[in-house]
Amino acid sequence: MSKICSTCGLPQELCVCETIAKESQKIEVGLVKKKFGKKNTVIHGINEHEVNLKDLAKKLKNRFACGGTAKQGMIELQGNHLKAIKTELVKLGFSPDTIEVKAK
Ligand SMILES: [Zn+2]
Repeated sequence: MSKICSTCGLPQELCVCETIAKESQKIEVGLVKKKFGKKNTVIHGINEHEVNLKDLAKKLKNRFACGGTAKQGMIELQGNHLKAIKTELVKLGFSPDTIEVKAK
């Protein structure tokens, strides 16, 4: 038995809720300063009820070969990935129009 999506009522393999959700996010990417002058990349604005944040964080960590965490609707990646983050998010199914990179 396949799982039924609670949003659209379709079996999960037919459900496109996450695809639609990915296209309707308002994602902001920025940097946070850490100890010793290091910077981390922070992604917020992704609706964690619509998109699997942990899974997304895992994929991004693999692509950038860095550490990171997903918590409270935010993904924090170790290091500055501002240059490539938008491209990677688009590859993962997010619409470029929804991603705002705040370079500092
Ligand atoms: Zn659905």
